[in-house]
Amino acid sequence: MPRNGKPILVVGGGIGGLSTALALGRKGWRVRVLEQTPELGAIGYGIQLGPNVFPMFDRLGIRDAVMAQSIVPGACLMLDALTGEEIVRVPTGASLLQRFGHPYIVLHRVDLHHVLMDACRVVPAIELESSTTVTGVDDLGDRVVARTERGETIEGEALIAADGLRSRIRAQLLDDGEPRPIGYVAHRTMVPMAEVTADVHRTDVVLWGGPGFHIVHYPLRHGTLFNIVAVFRTSTYAEKGDVDGYRAELARTYRAAHPTMKALLGMMDLERRWPIGDRDPVRHWCKGRVALLGDAAHPTLQSFAQGACMAIEDAVCLAELIDLAQGDCASAFRQYQAARLLRTARIQLESRSMWEFYHLDGIARDVRNDICRRWSEQDVFRCLEWIYDGFTLPTESDTSAAARARDRALTGSAA
Ligand SMILES: Cc1cc2nc3c(=O)[nH]c(=O)nc-3n(C[C@H](O)[C@H](O)[C@H](O)COP(=O)(O)OP(=O)(O)OC[C@H]3O[C@@H](n4cnc5c(N)ncnc54)[C@H](O)[C@@H]3O)c2cc1C
Repeated sequence: MPRNGKPILVVGGGIGGLSTALALGRKGWRVRVLEQTPELGAIGYGIQLGPNVFPMFDRLGIRDAVMAQSIVPGACLMLDALTGEEIVRVPTGASLLQRFGHPYIVLHRVDLHHVLMDACRVVPAIELESSTTVTGVDDLGDRVVARTERGETIEGEALIAADGLRSRIRAQLLDDGEPRPIGYVAHRTMVPMAEVTADVHRTDVVLWGGPGFHIVHYPLRHGTLFNIVAVFRTSTYAEKGDVDGYRAELARTYRAAHPTMKALLGMMDLERRWPIGDRDPVRHWCKGRVALLGDAAHPTLQSFAQGACMAIEDAVCLAELIDLAQGDCASAFRQYQAARLLRTARIQLESRSMWEFYHLDGIARDVRNDICRRWSEQDVFRCLEWIYDGFTLPTESDTSAAARARDRALTGSAA
């Protein structure tokens, strides 16, 4: 396919979609991003990003712009929600930088979106289109046609669906139902730091883990904002409630929690709640000229704060492979799926175990705390190295070896 051919369509202008557009556009491939909301990246709360995204940011040319909007916290702490005892400390300052070669950061999602959008806007090959809801796609063999809610059809060379947890394109491709509900919900709030009266760590990422509930908080925007996420198990998971009902439910759920957590809950805006869910890993996220990416492909629980990081790794990997395949998207999509499957599936599966770990009760909680008390900084880094050491992008020799292996398999010939 020539670089000036039909555009590659990207459905969804979230972190995954914009990263994909930027990665492809910087290599000269035409991309058209179709986003359903009227304004791309208009809302959002805080986001944590591990050191593994930085080699990807280097490829996207946005490391400095991201860093300018970010805070490097002193540590990620896990505290026992009942006693306030420190259970795990992941140092995220100088020693993490030295061990993994890149920092750990927190920033406002809106700021990350703006960095990505600003970078996309200066690449002539990228078109960003808002208020465009894609309802389905037809793969015609030599091109794709996306259908929109307005009744338009949009032609493209191929289609990459970065349309999130409830992806319509996934529903069409895999027909595997709704995401798996886990019975937990999240409420998110940002407040001016000056209004935080609770006695909390203001420069760290803190997770208070309790039986069936947790709270995460950290600073944003040069320490002027404080981001709070309260997550808990509830039987009213699927029901819509009102703020008073939610408030009463929080009081019941967190009744045994440490007083600092209760003070934080008093600051929460309870207007909106997010049901938490994920999916089992699947082997196939690509078919012909259509591929899934990010949460559409491998949605995960937030335990490692890696969902967006995986979407960004997907994006750079996929663009690399499309470029190596000289625009043969169907072939690149197969290689992308093979390259990304085990890493993203491990994130999905280990996030479930980590979710249990955060929410332990009774003797299991005592055992966890006793084990973790003995962990050294090296022990903690060793647990995280499979994530933070990052993802090796495929090279030309990998892809030609993969192509040779495929040809051998197809022709049945020996090496
Ligand atoms: C409470 C919480 C905390 C989290 N914290 C972190 C964290 O700290 N670090 C981290 O790495 N990850 C975190 N995650 C996970 C992260 O938010 C997701 O993994 C990430 O946003 C996935 O990016 P995406 O681009 O695949 O999907 P999304 O961000 O969901 O973007 C999908 C985009 O597609 C658009 N769209 C959807 N359908 C259509 C359609 N039919 N047509 C056109 N456009 C469409 C949507 O409007 C949206 O803009 C967290 C998640 C939650 C719920």
